[in-house]
This record gives sequence, structure tokens and C-alpha cells, in this order.
Amino acid sequence: MRLAPILCLSLAAPIAFASPGPRIVEHDVQVRLDPYRSRLEATDRFTIVGYQQSLLRFLLNEDLEIASLRIEGRDLRWREEAFDRAHWVDLPAGEGGAFEGVREVLVNLPAGGEDSLDLVIAYAGTVLYSLRGPDQSYDRSFETTSGLVEERGVYLAGSTFWVPTVPGDLFSFRLEARVPPGWESVSQGELVGRFEEGGYRIARWRAADPMEEAYCVAGPYVFREADFKNIKIQTFLYESNDAAELHERYVGAARTFLDRYGREIGPYPFPKFALVENFWQTGFGMPSFTLLGTQVIRLPFIPGTSFGHEILHNWWGNGVYVDWEKGNWCEGLTAYGADYAYKTDQGPREGAAYRRGELQKYRNFVSGSEDFPLVEFRS
Ligand SMILES: [Zn+2]
Repeated sequence: MRLAPILCLSLAAPIAFASPGPRIVEHDVQVRLDPYRSRLEATDRFTIVGYQQSLLRFLLNEDLEIASLRIEGRDLRWREEAFDRAHWVDLPAGEGGAFEGVREVLVNLPAGGEDSLDLVIAYAGTVLYSLRGPDQSYDRSFETTSGLVEERGVYLAGSTFWVPTVPGDLFSFRLEARVPPGWESVSQGELVGRFEEGGYRIARWRAADPMEEAYCVAGPYVFREADFKNIKIQTFLYESNDAAELHERYVGAARTFLDRYGREIGPYPFPKFALVENFWQTGFGMPSFTLLGTQVIRLPFIPGTSFGHEILHNWWGNGVYVDWEKGNWCEGLTAYGADYAYKTDQGPREGAAYRRGELQKYRNFVSGSEDFPLVEFRS
């Protein structure tokens, strides 16, 4: 693994462009995950608004077979088409695999004067994409995937298209995830229920704020919880001799950063912050949680540096979103408020040395023809 000083990749999907037609504003998803068969079974009651056109077009992973689609118990007809960029306004070029394995679903909606409609869709299938190497052009250090359900863990994100998706729509959601006993699942927002029933471990999550995508990460985790003021601090760690100590170390660091940035910027925007261990090496920041690889999490400098950087992303990038058309401003501001700030805490000399080092890296990495303005920085 190549270690960058900033172990960070903002994971917001590069698909935040509005499309005409009905918008999906809310999901209520129940998902059952079978990691031993790489299988996902889901029911989603989703709410749409603005359906004057009477045709709803959304994206869903092509390996997820639709069993039914209903409004108020009545079956709806749907048809499926291959994904076509031309159907979506201003869809950016995207990165490799950004629209991997996705198809379009078209539904004729009943005429009616209501403002919103609830549709219920049931679907199931296999989700198992491989890990992709880092994109060298942006000096990324981590592998990523469009999504996977396997024995080592589950990773579902916007790029998986595991819930009906209209690119660019922001939505709130509820998620009830069923995983095998001994496993735990985590998503954005607040943990509102956690129990065992019918041979499954069940977690209920509520993301009340508008989200760009819905995450579901699961694995054979031990769940621990602490708090800072009214914010829950949760850890989802694999069983190991040092897990309890890791929990304590990261809870202490989380309290420090939540306190610092709460005072510097304003209230932390979510009900919880979670540290989630990952079986492949990552340093990803999502709204209200961070996904750190097993080796990354044990590097001694992470709790005082990169971890704070990821927490700060809850304000910049995962709280206030980036409009990708105008360039990714959040990385620079987060590095300023975290990496640079931690150095200036040590003294002006350290702050100056950090800045000099960053400028040297820029000079080494960028030659004249490779340079580009912020507006073209979209990952
Ligand atoms: Zn970052």
C-alpha cells in the first residue's frame, strides 16, 4: 500500500446532476444480505414527486431481478432498457466503472393530481464486483469496488445501484438490514433499532438528511458505543486482541475532533459518527462514518491525523455537498482545517514546513501540461 499523507478519498458519486422527470425523494428499504451466496433481497417503498410526465425512469443494478412493482397493492407494468447516457441530462463522463452493470427501468405511472406517490418494489440478485486498483491520475492510494456481498464483508454504495436511483436526486431514507448472526451492518444517520430476530441480526438506520447515495456496509463486527454530548460515537471492529483498545483510542480522538470542529465551525450535522473497519485497505469518508482498512486503522499516527481529516469531511463534502460541475473545493478546505491545522498547532515552523512540503509535492507531481484549475477537479 502506498501511503499518502492524507489517507482520504471523498466517495460521493460523480453523478450529482439533475435529470428531468419524476424525482425520488425518500426510500424505506428492507434488505436481507446473504454473504455466503453473495445475494441481496430487498423491498423498497420509495416516494416520488414531480410526475407530470407520467413516465418514471430510474436506474437499478442489472443483476437485481425485479419480482414486483406496486402502487397501493396494485401491480404496475414496467419495461427495462440498456443504460443510455443520452437519457440523462448533463451526466458527466464518470470514472471507470461508475455505471458498471446498470440498466434503466421505465414505469408508466397512473394519472392523478397528487403531489407524491409511493411505489413498492421487490427485487433480488447477486452483487459481487471485484476490487479495482487506484486511479493513478489522481494519486489515489486505495482500491475500490462498485459493490460486493461476500463472506469477508458487504459494501453497497451509490455505485452499486442497489436501490432505485435517479441520478442527481437527494433523498432521505430508512434502512432495515438483516445480516447473519455475529454480523453487524452500518449506514448513514441514526441507529434506531438493533436486535436479533428469526435467525438474523437486524439493524434499523434512519438518514433524515438529504443524501446523495445510500450506503450499507456489513461484516463480522463487534459493535461498541460511546458518546460525546448528544452525538453517538460507534465502532464496528473485527474481533481481535486489540479491538477494545482501538475502540478507546478512536473514541478519545473522535471526542477531541467533534469538540474542536463543533466550536470552530458549528454543530456536527449528524446524530452519530462511526468508525468502521474494512477488510481491504481504505481511508474512505462517508456522511457520519469512516471506513478504514485493518492495517490503516492500526497505524499509530492515524487517530491524530487522517481520522480528524475524515471527521472534518462531515462538514465539508459530506455535510455541505460538492457541486461537481464547479470542481471539488472540499478537499482543499478539509486539508486546511485538518492536516495543515494540526501542524500549525505544533508551531509556526511546523505549519510552514507542511505548506512547503505540499508545494514541493505539487511541483514534483504536476508539470505544465498536467496542471488544471479547481473547476476541473471532480473526483
Ligand atoms: Zn479528504
